[in-house]
Amino acid sequence: MKRTELKELGEFGLIDRIEADFKNINSETVKGIGDDAAVIDNGSNVYTVVSTDMLVEGVHFDLSYVPLHHLGYKAVAVNISDIAAMNGIPKQITVSLALSSRFSVEAIDALYQGIKIACDDYKVDLVGGDTTSSRAGLVISITAIGVVEKNKIAYRHTARPNDIICATGDLGGAYLGLQVLEQEKQVYLANPEMQPQLAGKDYLLKRQLKPEARMDVIYELNDIGVVPTSMIDISDGLASELMHLCRSSNTGAVIFEDKLPIHGETYNTAVEFNIDPVTCVLNGGEDYELLFTISQEDFPKIKNHADIALIGYMTNIPKEILLNTKSGTPVPIRAQGWVHF
Ligand code: ADP
Ligand code: MG
Repeated sequence: MKRTELKELGEFGLIDRIEADFKNINSETVKGIGDDAAVIDNGSNVYTVVSTDMLVEGVHFDLSYVPLHHLGYKAVAVNISDIAAMNGIPKQITVSLALSSRFSVEAIDALYQGIKIACDDYKVDLVGGDTTSSRAGLVISITAIGVVEKNKIAYRHTARPNDIICATGDLGGAYLGLQVLEQEKQVYLANPEMQPQLAGKDYLLKRQLKPEARMDVIYELNDIGVVPTSMIDISDGLASELMHLCRSSNTGAVIFEDKLPIHGETYNTAVEFNIDPVTCVLNGGEDYELLFTISQEDFPKIKNHADIALIGYMTNIPKEILLNTKSGTPVPIRAQGWVHF
């Protein structure tokens, strides 16, 4: 039998392949594979939304520079981010761990200290999980459960041409935070006497080590009466997430380079590292901001929001994603995302 390498399919191709083989048979399953969270109708006035994410040592984090309490916090935040991306309110999480004997009780205490702070911050209950042993490294899998009023749910597939594309916060910082940590690790390995040079990188380190799910924006949108026409969280980079919105909604998009939100520290550090700042914004991962679309009529409600950038608009040309550069030239952008395999 022919052997196909995983890298030939890629992560998205693999998920598509899995999805193609399963058909939902329960009427309660409103949305299965293909969005930030599954959507379940339990017959009340709200939908239940459910999302799972796994963090693997050596793939998603390196314990030589990631403190365990931050890791615990981040593991919760990245799951809450997927609930936020449905315009949902998180309620419960479960936490599953695979551990080796390398970890002490105190280490696990530190991990759970971070998990607890996140539960307090996002007002969720830890309601269960699973604990097992691992031969190599730490694996944390978290499932988050939330609710959303039925008429407020925000899918990936419901953007329409002419909708305005919005991004929260700023982008590219978490990626550069990782570059800073990696560089310091290499310096340390070469010479353990060297002190780490992390001065002036506080913002980037915070973006990498302690990202926040943008629940604040979800509550604000609710307060000002805006329901996004589509939404996704930015875990793999703006280009990749915009591609998902366009692919699911059968739209294209135009975004403007001079509207892309970037923090000063991100910009300066990108230049320092000889990386194009725009590449960091488009393809840097792990910012956990929200990318969403609104209808033109909601523009006045959002146009002066300090923490939401209006970066472009949806078009009726399926999958054509253009970046209008500062010089006025439109260039097609391709999503790099993360290469997992
Ligand atoms: P996100 O980046 O928002 O966490 P993913 O790209 O991980 O989303 O997943 C996209 C969709 O594919 C989601 O609906 C997710 O539940 C589903 N999915 C991912 N991996 C698997 C898998 N191994 N089996 C079934 N569904 C999966
Ligand atoms: Mg997501």
